[in-house]
Amino acid sequence: MKTIGVIGAGAAGLIAAGRAAERGHRVFVFEKNKMAGRKIRITGKRRCNLTNDCDLDTLISNIPGNGRFLYSSFSLFSNRSIMDFFQRMGLTLKVERGNRVFPESDNAKDVVDTLLKYAEMYNVRFCFGNRVEDILTVDGHVTGVRLSDGVEKKLDAVIVATGGLSYPGTGSTGDGHRMVRELGHTITPLKPSLVPLTVKEDWVKELQGLSLKNTAIKLTDRRGRTIYDDFGEMLFTHFGVSGPVILSASRHILKYGYKDVFLSIDLKPALSEEKLDNRIQRDFAKFSRKQFKNSLNELLPNLLIPVIVKLSGISPEKPVNQITKAERQQLVHLLKNLTCEITGSRSFDEAIVTAGGVSVKEIEPKTMESRIIKGLYFAGEIIDVDAYTGGFNLTIAFSTGYTAGNSV
Ligand SMILES: Cc1cc2nc3c(=O)[nH]c(=O)nc-3n(C[C@H](O)[C@H](O)[C@H](O)COP(=O)(O)OP(=O)(O)OC[C@H]3O[C@@H](n4cnc5c(N)ncnc54)[C@H](O)[C@@H]3O)c2cc1C
Repeated sequence: MKTIGVIGAGAAGLIAAGRAAERGHRVFVFEKNKMAGRKIRITGKRRCNLTNDCDLDTLISNIPGNGRFLYSSFSLFSNRSIMDFFQRMGLTLKVERGNRVFPESDNAKDVVDTLLKYAEMYNVRFCFGNRVEDILTVDGHVTGVRLSDGVEKKLDAVIVATGGLSYPGTGSTGDGHRMVRELGHTITPLKPSLVPLTVKEDWVKELQGLSLKNTAIKLTDRRGRTIYDDFGEMLFTHFGVSGPVILSASRHILKYGYKDVFLSIDLKPALSEEKLDNRIQRDFAKFSRKQFKNSLNELLPNLLIPVIVKLSGISPEKPVNQITKAERQQLVHLLKNLTCEITGSRSFDEAIVTAGGVSVKEIEPKTMESRIIKGLYFAGEIIDVDAYTGGFNLTIAFSTGYTAGNSV
C-alpha cells in the first residue's frame, strides 16, 4: 500500500482518488476550496453534460487539442466506461441531442455526490481548505507536498489535478502549472478556449441582450475561405458575441489568435435568398404605405430592426413602395450575411476551458506519469488537451483521472 496525494477535488482529482483508493492505496485529497467539485456544479448550465455517447473516432475528432494522446487512456476508461461507472454507482443518466449525456435529475450536484460516494466507499481522506504550495522531490522522485501553512506531508506519489485557468473563481488559478514548471515540466502556451468573442463593429452593442435561437453562422478568413459553420443559438453582448454556437466556433479560430476572422450570421437560415425575397415582397406589399423603418416588424426582432435599417443603406424614411429591386436584394443579402470582424476573445474568466498545459510529450499516455519526475502524475485540464463542447472536456478529466488513479 502506498500513500498517495491528489491535488484538487475537481472531476479529474475525485475519480483519480477513488480509483487509487479502490486499488488499495491510502489516499489524501488536498483541495483549497471548502468543498469538492465547485466547477462540476456549474457545468452544462448546472445540469452537467458529463460525457458524450459516441464512438471512439468521434470522441477523438472532438478533441482538437492533442486528442491522439488520449487513445491509451480511453482504451482503459472511455466515454462508455464513464457512463457505466456512474450508472453502477446509482446515478441514472440520459442521452440528449448530439449524444450529450446528463444525469436524469438534471442536477450537476448529483455528479459530485456520486464521485464523493465513490471516494468515501474506499476511505479517501479529504483535506478541504488546504492549498498545496509545492511538490517535494528528492533525486527526481516525489516525496510529498508542502501546504500553504508550511506543513509537509510525506507521500509516495502525487496526482496533480489542479485544472486550467478558466473560471478561476472555482479554484483553477494555475497553481499546478507553476509547481510542475518548477520541477522541469514544459507548460505550452495557455489560451482561453470555448470563449465569447469580441467584434469590431459598434452596431453589435446596440444588439446587447438579443438571443437568436435558430441561426446559421459561418467563420471565414481574410481570403473568404470558410473555417467553420454551425447552426444553433447565439447571443449578442456589450462586447461582441457569445452563446453555444459562438463558444464552439471559438475553438476553431484559436489558431488564428481570434483575429483576422469574419463572422457571418444568417438571420433567416430556413429561407433561401429567393424565398426570403418573396417573403419581403409580401411584407412590402402589406406595408406599402409605411416608411421602410416601420416595415420589418413581422420579419425581425425589434432590437435588430434599427441596426438592419442602418446597415441596409436604404433611407429609413423611404416609403416602402419606392424601394427598388436592387435595394431589396441588398437587404436580402444583408439578412443572409450579417457580417462582423472578430477582434479577439474574452479572458479566462469567461472561458469554458483552457487550451495548453503540461506538454503531452512529457507524460506517459498509458499511465499519466511524468517522464521527468517519478511518482508524479497528471489528470484533467492541467494537461495540454482540450475539446469542443458536448461533454468531451469532462470525458478527458474522468478518463485521465481514472488512468492516473489506476496506475499510481
Ligand atoms: C461554466 C462551465 C461549464 C462547463 N460545462 C461543461 C460541460 O457541461 N461538459 C464538459 O465536458 N465540460 C464542461 N466544462 C469544462 C469542465 O468543467 C472542465 O474541463 C473540467 O471540470 C476540468 O476538471 P479538472 O478536474 O481537471 O479541473 P477543475 O475542475 O478545475 O478542478 C481543479 C481543482 O483543483 C483545485 N486546486 C487548484 N490548485 C490547488 C492547490 N494549489 N491546492 C489544492 N487544490 C487546488 C481547485 O480548487 C479545483 O477544485 C465547463 C466549464 C465551465 C467553466
